[in-house]
Amino acid sequence: MRMLLGGKGANLAEMTVIGLPVPPGFTITTEVCREYQTTKSLTPEVIEQIDAALAALEKKMGKRFGDATNPLLVSVRSGAPVSMPGMMDTILNLGLNDETVEALARATNNPRFAWDSYRRFIQMFSNVVLGIGLHNFEAILDEHKKRHGFTQDIELQAEHFKAIVPEYKALVEKTIGKPFPMDPRAQLMAAINAVFESWDNPRAQVYRRINKIPETLGTAVNVQAMAFGNMGDDSATGVCFTRNPNSGVKEFYGEYLPNAQGEDVVAGIRTPYPISHLKETMPEVYDQLFNLCELLESHYKDMQDIEFTVERGKLYMLQCRAGKRTPVASIKIAVDLVNEGKISKEQAILRVEPDKINNILHPAIDPKAKLDILATGLAASPGAASGVCVFDPDRAVKLAGEGQKVIMVRPETSPDDIHGMVVSQGILTSRGGMTSHAAIVSRGMGKPCVVGCEAIKIDLEARQFTVNGRVIREGDVISIDGATGNVIAGAVPVVDPELSPEFRTLLTWADEIRTMGVRANADTPQDALRAREFGAEGIGLCRTEHMFGQGGHHPERMVVAREMILAEDKEERMAALEKLRVMQREDFYEIFKAMDPHPVTIRLLDPPLHEFLPDEEDLAIEVALLRAKGGNAEELREKENLLRKVRALSEMNPMLGFRGCRLGMIYPEIYEMQVRAIFEAAAQCNKEGMKVEPEVMHPLVGIVTELAFLREMTDRVAREVMEETGVTFKYMVGTMIEVPRAAVTADEIAEHAQFFSFGTNDLTQTTFGFSRDDAEGKFLAQYVERKVLPENPFVSIDRKGVGKMVEIACELGRKARPEIKLGVCGEHGGDPASIEFFQSVGLTYVSCSPYRVPVARLAAAQAAA
Ligand code: ADP
Ligand code: MG
Ligand code: MG
Repeated sequence: MRMLLGGKGANLAEMTVIGLPVPPGFTITTEVCREYQTTKSLTPEVIEQIDAALAALEKKMGKRFGDATNPLLVSVRSGAPVSMPGMMDTILNLGLNDETVEALARATNNPRFAWDSYRRFIQMFSNVVLGIGLHNFEAILDEHKKRHGFTQDIELQAEHFKAIVPEYKALVEKTIGKPFPMDPRAQLMAAINAVFESWDNPRAQVYRRINKIPETLGTAVNVQAMAFGNMGDDSATGVCFTRNPNSGVKEFYGEYLPNAQGEDVVAGIRTPYPISHLKETMPEVYDQLFNLCELLESHYKDMQDIEFTVERGKLYMLQCRAGKRTPVASIKIAVDLVNEGKISKEQAILRVEPDKINNILHPAIDPKAKLDILATGLAASPGAASGVCVFDPDRAVKLAGEGQKVIMVRPETSPDDIHGMVVSQGILTSRGGMTSHAAIVSRGMGKPCVVGCEAIKIDLEARQFTVNGRVIREGDVISIDGATGNVIAGAVPVVDPELSPEFRTLLTWADEIRTMGVRANADTPQDALRAREFGAEGIGLCRTEHMFGQGGHHPERMVVAREMILAEDKEERMAALEKLRVMQREDFYEIFKAMDPHPVTIRLLDPPLHEFLPDEEDLAIEVALLRAKGGNAEELREKENLLRKVRALSEMNPMLGFRGCRLGMIYPEIYEMQVRAIFEAAAQCNKEGMKVEPEVMHPLVGIVTELAFLREMTDRVAREVMEETGVTFKYMVGTMIEVPRAAVTADEIAEHAQFFSFGTNDLTQTTFGFSRDDAEGKFLAQYVERKVLPENPFVSIDRKGVGKMVEIACELGRKARPEIKLGVCGEHGGDPASIEFFQSVGLTYVSCSPYRVPVARLAAAQAAA
């Protein structure tokens, strides 16, 4: 009944039912919370029920609320259906007042304990219910400690607390203009209201937003009789786990503090003891606790996080829940539980969150590397990245466009910086925390990010930052480590993430369960090998632009590509294409070999040609300078000529411009060269005994005639190559579906396409009519914030619109060609929520970046399970 009682309430009830020692109490349901959200008060009916439950609790405990001889004290604890640790509030020792504190002191014969509990109660109640900052109380406490020369709370005695309490009360009266409430029932009602209020406090709201927890769940309130861990050295409070939450290793793990209460263990007031120490001080309690924890793990069939308190040698269980764990631990625990026969493989698969394991699949800094660490900030998004520093988003876009790897450094980021973040390898900010814009957006983009690195002093004007007297300027190379928060001078060697044996096991189970194939987007043999290592069953998208020199890896090819683009006539163009053919044949050969015998889908040239030429503005400046200087006439003429070409190719809207198969239609020789290179490489591979069946993919088709023309060319070249080489091989011709017209005419297109691959990045752009760079930079974040859209549709597929296009195209495509292969190669191919959708429309495979392949294998299994 977790939705109704909250996680805490449901588990407290369950522990009680299976006979564990739990202090009695009652739970006010999440339904009341939802009601409270609208009325901002408790209804008379609810109040009546609370009074009845309280009366029953009094009877059970044999104590009365506010009683002057034997007072009942309770805790008032929040507890939502989904655990939100530390986000909402809890009040302990409620029921104490000037009278009951004396009664408690007498009844327990322990005045120190009674007065300590009272001052704790005033503190907590004042903080949670009355909104008075805790530091005000701490200041008073510190003052008293100092006066007596004490350093720790534990040194304070009854008379000290007795002196502190009136000061606390005076503080409250001064702050709120009313005395601290003395009536226990009024205290209780105020506390319950406050817990419901705390559902909407800002940190709870942020936490829900980050973790995608619905606002409407609401919290329950648990009212429970107190068990006291602060009654002396035979009392204690602690937290333990049935397995190590960091590594997942099966060991009893935890901490406790003798003579302490509530949050003392986590608050860091005193250093707690490891749980093993309890075995020496209270061996019987330890054994009982250990056994109950084992029992709970077997009962819930998952690692448990347990809160307990020992009151005068008697153990009480105060909470249990499935323990939070690192991604590494989540995998190990899931696999171990299967091996121990406690859960099934399917359950194990469903226990591991694909989004989280993504975090451990980033390249990491080589542990053997010597690092020149400049500073350390908060590790906001994992992964290691190196690049040149840039201090504003436009510079980032410019330098990245020139093929440089950049790290964007900002005091903090805002939606205005997104276009810079998109092109950066990583993001570094000097301000902001784990929930800052930079942190959230980077995690969404899967980019390394370090935030709140206050040691670096950024000077945006001067485009530099200083740190410990060193100056780092724009263009200097730095590295960031999103796993440790380190900022490092220079580039760092990185190593690929290792898949642990447990992870490999889990993924083989995933492979048994899933029905969709998982391929990788890989443009180079290195990427292809890495993708195989991660379990890719082929390449779903091999882009060919870098084979023309884009990205700066092959400057010599850029020269040839420019020759081709700038050629004055067909002859000149053919000469350049001939050189490119030889180079590309070599590339394809290596990629086929790396992937053999898995399929490889190659997309022909896609971006507009001007992307291969120099920047128009830069060139114009050069020409103007040459003119002004009256320099070398030959050089000037050449540059002017180039500028003319660049201007001729420049487009108002390149995203919708002369690109994709439109290039192949107008310059068929470019596509023909690529197709020839592909088939020659395939012939060579097959001759050498490999089994290579290339899949030639024509991008951005929107009109069936385009594909008909290109299909015919492709088939002709295949025949020619087979004749020339004497090698026959199989191949396929297909298209990307990335404009709405292609989707809605997919039946016609399928007549000529043996496969479709959904380019969901472009399909999202063209379906929405969004240009991604503009949308993400200017308004998309706002749209999500204001709930115009539930999510960034470039991250997780928009099922209603873009998804509908995919559905229509699948249906029409299958109608025309039942055996058609259907895949997806946009970034959505690695997004778990989108993968679930792709399963539902029956795609053959998803294709994603190599590092995402394990995530996709797992997510595909979850979608099929
Ligand atoms: P959170 O949800 O933040 O963990 P809890 O409601 O669990 O908050 O309360 C925090 C701590 O207060 C618990 O870990 C426990 O130590 C203490 N506590 C809560 N209720 C009681 C109780 N009835 N008796 C003794 N200690 C309690
Ligand atoms: Mg708790
Ligand atoms: Mg595209």
